[in-house]
Amino acid sequence: MDKKENKITRRKFVNLGAKSYASLHLATILPSSILGSTSHRPTKTSTFHGVCYHDCPDSCSWKVEVQDGRVVSFGGDKANPFTAGKLCGKMETFPEDITYHPDRLLTPMKRIGKKGEGKFEAISWEQAILEVGDQLKETIARHGSESVLSHGYMGTQSLIQKSVMSSRFFARMEASVIAHTICGGAVIPANFEVNGTAMGVLPEDMVHSRYIILWGTNTKKSNVHQWPYVLKARKAGAKIIVVDPFVSATAKEADWHIQPLPGTDVALALGMMNVIITEGLVDQDYIDNYTSGYKDLKEHVKSYDPKSVSNICGLPEEDIIQLAKEYANGNPSLIRILVGIEHNYNGGDGTRAVAILPSLTGAWRKLGGGLMHMTFEMSGRALNWERLGYHDRMPTKPKRALSMVQIGQLLNNPDLNPAIKSIFIYNSNPMVTAPNANLTKKGLEREDLLTVVLEHFMTETAKYADYVFPATTQLEHWDIGDSWGQLYININQPAIAPLGEAKPNSEFFRLLAKKMGYTEECFKESDKDIVKSAFDSNHPYLEGIDFDYMQENGWARYKIPEPFLPHKEGNFGTASGKCEFISPSSRLPAYKDVAYSELEKSDFPLQLLTIKNTKGFHNSSHANVKHLRQKEGRLWLDIHPEDANARNIQNGDELMAFNQRGKVILEAKITKRIRPGVVCMPHGYWPSLVKGGQASNNLTDDRLTDIMLWGGGAAFQDCRVQVVKT
Ligand code: SF4
Repeated sequence: MDKKENKITRRKFVNLGAKSYASLHLATILPSSILGSTSHRPTKTSTFHGVCYHDCPDSCSWKVEVQDGRVVSFGGDKANPFTAGKLCGKMETFPEDITYHPDRLLTPMKRIGKKGEGKFEAISWEQAILEVGDQLKETIARHGSESVLSHGYMGTQSLIQKSVMSSRFFARMEASVIAHTICGGAVIPANFEVNGTAMGVLPEDMVHSRYIILWGTNTKKSNVHQWPYVLKARKAGAKIIVVDPFVSATAKEADWHIQPLPGTDVALALGMMNVIITEGLVDQDYIDNYTSGYKDLKEHVKSYDPKSVSNICGLPEEDIIQLAKEYANGNPSLIRILVGIEHNYNGGDGTRAVAILPSLTGAWRKLGGGLMHMTFEMSGRALNWERLGYHDRMPTKPKRALSMVQIGQLLNNPDLNPAIKSIFIYNSNPMVTAPNANLTKKGLEREDLLTVVLEHFMTETAKYADYVFPATTQLEHWDIGDSWGQLYININQPAIAPLGEAKPNSEFFRLLAKKMGYTEECFKESDKDIVKSAFDSNHPYLEGIDFDYMQENGWARYKIPEPFLPHKEGNFGTASGKCEFISPSSRLPAYKDVAYSELEKSDFPLQLLTIKNTKGFHNSSHANVKHLRQKEGRLWLDIHPEDANARNIQNGDELMAFNQRGKVILEAKITKRIRPGVVCMPHGYWPSLVKGGQASNNLTDDRLTDIMLWGGGAAFQDCRVQVVKT
């Protein structure tokens, strides 16, 4: 792959123009109709609005300039006040890195080698749809429609190419669907159990906060457009606290970094409650009027005294006491969470405990006080979902939802009734993103499994497909970019025609629907018409905002009544309308030991964190781009000096991290960024592109988190390993 790839900077790319780049790299694989004429006639520049499609809270607006059907300029839209014209380093050179990358898939491919071998031959769309449709019909006839699994996720989080047409298709089929539990699978249901919503303090209102706890979130690196609001609040007098078991870039900037042992957040939050109640720092009036379960909670947290919590979290008692007191007196205090808190067995209860804190102290009463989590409910309320989902016209809905975390188990379980006989993977690369990757691999190697993948590249997962269909990139299709981290909705206009034979995911499902004999009108709707339908809404959040406005402006901020003080007087989204300290299943948040096996306890003494700690990769995306991979360097392991000394490890030594599931070859980085007994490796490297062919998720366990509401979240960080020099 790498030998064909030449590095080109954004500036150089823009100066040369896409024509030069395409001529340089694509002439051998693209028909001349795509490259176009090379005559030097005057050109007109057209500008298009778009939005980043990555699974990221920021959802940056961008602008694309096109000449002669080719991208000549690409960058953030400066007019958007929140994302402010700044794309992160992962996306600055997106057109050349992804859309015009010489390895991009531009024609359907059919497997001719063994599964995983990566041997394919080109096939026409017509023939490929015919063959997939016939095999699908046979599978359904023999094993039932639930033997087909739809495995779509957030590789493209914009609505249409993520899910609109595919949801219609698989609902019509009555197929099984994958439950999106890998991220948010614990933290979202947990917050809903307590507050009935994930909406809280608005991102911009952080400037009014005077005590900010960034709890398990690396804001400076992974929520880059929220970071300026942290700095503004600090300038206005706020103290910035980071709770994170790793010394992240954000932790380095904090006024105070609290570094608990991984997975002990729930104990820390309960310990804070113990101190707040003991010291009489609760807002009793708020508790009496707007919460339920306080009497039981008060009794429950007695066992989480600072000494006990100190033992669980590995923190000094005085730090727990100080944090609790400062938080209660923050005036107003804000806790910012995203998903970092959830990726361990105690992740659900950890979130619940943290989500209770603002109601205990009445932090919700003031602007900038409370909990800041996610904003996805905005688009859920504002857009016309009846039209998007076609709920009134679809005869059926998905019947069986299966946890994404345990895709390996699902594919290897013959007793599943019915067993999975066909899988459609789109916007997803489970060989890199799902835990226990060697089990996933074993499942995808099954010869009796029909695997269809829609992709930009021959990814680690696509190599196991029977058919791979070339998908369009965000520069080539219509879409709607909603956000789960801020308050702007975007339109994504196709800036250029699809390269080669690439088609939008939506078009794949339209074609397959036709082949399957699905004649409902919803399969005939074009992507542009779907965008129009979405904005055909009377919701006050979209007052004055329709398709024409979006075409012109590209983005809009929801019209939310402000000041936004959602829980100043209760009004929680729970059944009782109160903040519920006790869950509907009558549980109070509690710390529980992880049920490690005797083997894990005896042979694998180190706890492995696998976190997003790269500059250039985004989940499983971009790791195939050579210049971004060079920026990251070799896959590495952060190891504390004490653990390194015990193993005679020097900085830069080649190591093997291993357990009962896999073994990863990587380089030692001796550091105090993690505590003794904990090691850390970045997530996102593609196994086949690192020495030894295995990466972080070859080691992680597919253990589920404590909250099982959506099938259980992913406890990635409850992973034990041993480390040796190779
Ligand atoms: S990955 Fe996130 S921060 Fe980077 S450009 Fe996309 S939305 Fe913006």
